[in-house]
Amino acid sequence: MELNRNFARLSSGYLFSDVGRRVAAFAEKHPDVELTRLGIGDVTLPLAEPVVQAMCRAAREMGTPEGFHGYGPEQGYSFARQAVQAQYAQRGVVLLEEEIFLSDGAKSDLGGLMDLFGPHNIALVPDPGYPVYADTSVMAGHPVRFVQGTQANGFLPGPDGQTGDIVYLCSPGNPTGAVYTREGLTAWVEYALERGAVILFDAAYESFIQDDTLPHSIFEIEGARRCAVEIGSLSKTAGFTGTRFGYTVIPQELECQGIHLRDLWLRRQSTKCNGVSYPVQRAAQAALSEEGRAACRKAVAYYLDNAHTLRAALEGTGVFCCGGDNSPYVWMQCPGGMDSWQFFEYLLKNARIVGTPGAGFGPGGEGYFRLTGFGERTATRAAAERLRAAVLAAQK
Ligand code: PLP
Repeated sequence: MELNRNFARLSSGYLFSDVGRRVAAFAEKHPDVELTRLGIGDVTLPLAEPVVQAMCRAAREMGTPEGFHGYGPEQGYSFARQAVQAQYAQRGVVLLEEEIFLSDGAKSDLGGLMDLFGPHNIALVPDPGYPVYADTSVMAGHPVRFVQGTQANGFLPGPDGQTGDIVYLCSPGNPTGAVYTREGLTAWVEYALERGAVILFDAAYESFIQDDTLPHSIFEIEGARRCAVEIGSLSKTAGFTGTRFGYTVIPQELECQGIHLRDLWLRRQSTKCNGVSYPVQRAAQAALSEEGRAACRKAVAYYLDNAHTLRAALEGTGVFCCGGDNSPYVWMQCPGGMDSWQFFEYLLKNARIVGTPGAGFGPGGEGYFRLTGFGERTATRAAAERLRAAVLAAQK
């Protein structure tokens, strides 16, 4: 009997467990100190009313002989897939219903998609980036090559000089909040088409994009249907982090060596997944309806306002920062030459703020720090003032 030895190649802990441990240790030592948590990227506002109503209605239906639903279609009910399809259509992206696969979230799909690829493909992973890309690739045995995001490239690395087969792109990016332009994504699509690589495009934060010139989907780029898979989620868009709903889009044209990836994914999903619960699919349908989208936009505006507050607090301090315009994340350089974990401890002690050390998002995140707009407004405003004072003091 042999275990999957790739697990031994993973870095030791999951970032947020490390943060949690250090915060718990601090709280034990200082029980009277109230902390503002601007670290973990979880939403805080409750579900919108139309979503709650749809979920309750569906739950009641399930308790009646005529409304009971057993196993649903593995790919998702037509009504929910059509709701996703309609959302894309609004931006001029035409998808076929059979290209949309529903799931319990983007994270599951990102992990599951590894089943489609042979073990020796090189994964190009943004650094800094969402740690799940590197970790799921390592678990599946793929060699990982980091693609460096830097201040010089605006944390939006391009394909020049890269050789890889599976390309992860995340826009708006976690943790940097950077968003690819059309030209930036076109360069990656051209690269993938030329090389026969597959792009895994993570659109989990697309609803935060405010600038109309920026693409929300890789499928807004010519040629992407032949080289890209898109992974979406209602977690941040509609507050579904605890409700769980995501989707993967695999266009019919996408094939590798004559095999359609969509067919493989259908086979994989029908084998390893029994779909998303009926009440959650009804809730997702409501979130994607006109009324639901209007309510969700309000929550997104609230989080963006918090992010602007944090960003504004850093302006003029002399410290580099980005994000927060089209993203709930603000990404900053640690002041006073501190490394990420030093600044984490410094901010905890001196400003009572919990943030996320950039080093947790890959080697390229060292020396940087992530703050999020997902907190409560009054607490975020007060924390922003403490943040500014602490950053200024650190540079003296
Ligand atoms: N993709 C990115 C970039 C994320 O930051 C997250 C969650 O924080 C996810 C995917 C996970 O989304 P879900 O909740 O749908 O699994």
